[in-house]
Amino acid sequence: MQIKDLCTSCNYLTITLIEHDSETASFTCSYCKNSFDLPWNNETRTLIRTLRGGGGHMKKIQKRNPQLLELLAQLKEPGDHIRVDPLPSDLQNAEDQPKPS
Ligand SMILES: [Zn+2]
Repeated sequence: MQIKDLCTSCNYLTITLIEHDSETASFTCSYCKNSFDLPWNNETRTLIRTLRGGGGHMKKIQKRNPQLLELLAQLKEPGDHIRVDPLPSDLQNAEDQPKPS
């Protein structure tokens, strides 16, 4: 499966490839090949859903940054990469966990 995400290693908007078995999900940036593993659990599945645009957080970001939607739409093939400069501040914080209220 693929998601469009900001790679924290190369700092480009890229397509991230995700492979998983029943225990581990491997995320690999299709541009710089930086990869990391997360346990394949509910938290990870929620994170992926959010990054794929199904989550409220990503929708809010896209609403405030319509230009980001255009950029993401330009990502089509693994290896595509787009420099975002300046980075929408919303996106920089995209990986923050929601604070418990
Ligand atoms: Zn990368």
